[in-house]
Amino acid sequence: MTENFSDEMVQLRHLNIVWFKRDLRLSDNKVLCDASTQGQILPLYIVEPDLWSQKDMSYRHYKFLGDAINSLDRDLRLKKSRLVIKVGNAVDVFSYLNKKYKKITIWSHKETWNGWTYERDKEVAHWAKSNNVDWIEYKRNGVVRGLQNRDGWSKQWYREMNMPICGLTESIKTTVEPSDSLPSAEDLNLEFDGLVKSQKGSREEAERLLNEFLNKSGKNYSSQMSSPLTAYDSCSRLSAYIAFGIMSVREVFQALELNKYKLKDLDKDSRNSWNRSFKSFSSRLRWHCHFIQKLEDQPQIEFNNLHSAYDGVREHEFDHAKFHSWKFGNTGFPMVDACMRSLIATGWLNFRMRAMLISFASYHLWLHWRETSLWLANLFVDYEPGIHYSQVQMQSGTTGINTIRIYNPVKQGYDHDPDGTFVKTWLPELSGISKKYIHTPWLSSVLPKGYLEPIVDELSSRKLAAKAVYEIRKNSDFKKVAKSIYVKHGSRKKSKLTFGASKNKKRKIIHQEELPL
Ligand SMILES: Cc1cc2nc3c(=O)[nH]c(=O)nc-3n(C[C@H](O)[C@H](O)[C@H](O)COP(=O)(O)OP(=O)(O)OC[C@H]3O[C@@H](n4cnc5c(N)ncnc54)[C@H](O)[C@@H]3O)c2cc1C
Repeated sequence: MTENFSDEMVQLRHLNIVWFKRDLRLSDNKVLCDASTQGQILPLYIVEPDLWSQKDMSYRHYKFLGDAINSLDRDLRLKKSRLVIKVGNAVDVFSYLNKKYKKITIWSHKETWNGWTYERDKEVAHWAKSNNVDWIEYKRNGVVRGLQNRDGWSKQWYREMNMPICGLTESIKTTVEPSDSLPSAEDLNLEFDGLVKSQKGSREEAERLLNEFLNKSGKNYSSQMSSPLTAYDSCSRLSAYIAFGIMSVREVFQALELNKYKLKDLDKDSRNSWNRSFKSFSSRLRWHCHFIQKLEDQPQIEFNNLHSAYDGVREHEFDHAKFHSWKFGNTGFPMVDACMRSLIATGWLNFRMRAMLISFASYHLWLHWRETSLWLANLFVDYEPGIHYSQVQMQSGTTGINTIRIYNPVKQGYDHDPDGTFVKTWLPELSGISKKYIHTPWLSSVLPKGYLEPIVDELSSRKLAAKAVYEIRKNSDFKKVAKSIYVKHGSRKKSKLTFGASKNKKRKIIHQEELPL
C-alpha cells in the first residue's frame, strides 16, 4: 500500500468502512444496512495472507471464498457500489485508511472463528482504541458475546431468528478507493488438495439449494440424512454457504417457517414426512449457533480437551503411520476409506459419517484429535471452528458431558450402505467383491488386489479404547469438573439448569445432545 493520497481523497470527511468478514451477503446484513444510512461507505474485504498460512486453512476454502467474493461484488454493483479488496494485515489496512481519510468508523459482525482471528480481533480492537477509531460490532447469527450462562439461551435464539430482515435501498453511496486484485491460491502458497467436484460459493447457488430443499429434496431428510448414499441429495447442503455467511441462519430459518404453511395442502403421509424433516432441520439450525456459542465462551476448545481429565491420555502415543493411512483412506475398513476418499474429492460428508471418521481415529487408532481435526478442517469446505471442534471433542469422548459413542465402521457400513454401492464408488478396487464381504473384505477367501488388510483389529481396539475412556470417568473429581462444564456449555430447552435434577427431568435432557452423567 502506497501512501500517495490525492488531495481530493484527503478532503473526504467521515468514512464508514463495512468490514466484510464471514457475512458475504447483502441480504439480512444489518451491519451494511445501518452503515449505509450514515452516508458514504467503503465495502471492504481484507485478504490476510497470515490467516491463510494457518494449519487449518486450505486451497478449497480459498476457492470457495473466491466465488463468494465475486458473487458479493456482483450484487454490490447492482446497487451501484463495489467491493474493495485490500491484501495485508488488518491493522495495517485500517492504519492506512485512517491516515488517508479524516476519520474512519469500522462496522462489522462479531467473529467467532479460529484462534488466529480471535487474536487478530484483539489487535484491531487495541489499535482502534489507541487511535480513537470507533469499531461497531453486531451480533452474528444467534451467538451472544459475553454470555453469563446458558439459561434462556434457546428462547433468545428464537427471538433473534424471528427479527425482521433489513432491506437496502436501490443504491449504496460508495467511496471510491482503489482495490487490490484477489491473490491467486498459489500466491498464498495454498496447494491443490484433491478437490474434484466442489460446490460453487455464490449467493445464487445458496438460494437455489434452499429452494430445492424446502420444496423438493428435503421431504425425506430425517430418514435419509444418515446414509452417505442418500444424504448428498436429501440434506440441504447449505453448510458452506452459512459458514461463509453467503446466507444467514435467520434467512434459512424464516424461509423454513414460511414453507411450513404450505404443508397443510398436502396428503397426510407427505405432510408427516415434511413435518419430521422440518423439525429436524430447524433443530440443526439452532445447533449451529449452539456449538459456535461454546467456542465464543471458551476459545481454548480449539486446542485443549474440554474436560481436563483427558489431558495427556492420547498425546504421547500418536502413531504417525496409522494417521497417514487414515488421512488418505487406506485403513482397510471400506466404509472409513470410502468416506475419506469421497470427502477429499467433494469437500463434504454427512454428519454420521463425519462422526464415524473422527471416532475411528480417536478410538480405534487412538490418535489425539488435535491433528486429525486439522486434517478434517482442511477437507471440509464448510469448516466452522465452533461446530468443528465441539463435534470433534464430542466424538472423541473428551467433553466429559456427552455419552461415549464409538462407531463400529463395519456396522455403519452394513446399516447405511448394505449393498456396498457407496463403497464401490470410491473404492473401485472392491468392485468385484460380494455383498456379504463388502464391509469385511479381509474375511473373504482372497483380499481384492489393491486393497489392504485392516490396520487394527476392530473389536479389540474398540474395547481397549472404551475401557481407557470409561476408566477416566471413574476418577473422583471427574463429575465435579463435568458439572461445571455442563453449567457453562450444556444445552437446555428449559430456561433453568437441570443438571443433577430428578430422574424425569434428566430424561428430558437426554433428548437433546448433551447428557448429564
Ligand atoms: C466431526 C464433525 C465435524 C463437523 N464439522 C463441521 C464444520 O466444520 N462445519 C459445519 O457447518 N458443520 C460441521 N459438522 C456438523 C454437520 O456434519 C454439518 O453441519 C452437516 O453435515 C452439513 O451438511 P448440510 O448443510 O447438508 O446440513 P443439514 O443437515 O442440511 O443442516 C442444515 C444446517 O444446520 C447446521 N447443522 C447441521 N448439523 C449440525 C450439527 N450436528 N451441529 C451443528 N450444526 C449443524 C449446519 O449449518 C447445516 O448447514 C461436523 C460434524 C462432525 C461430526
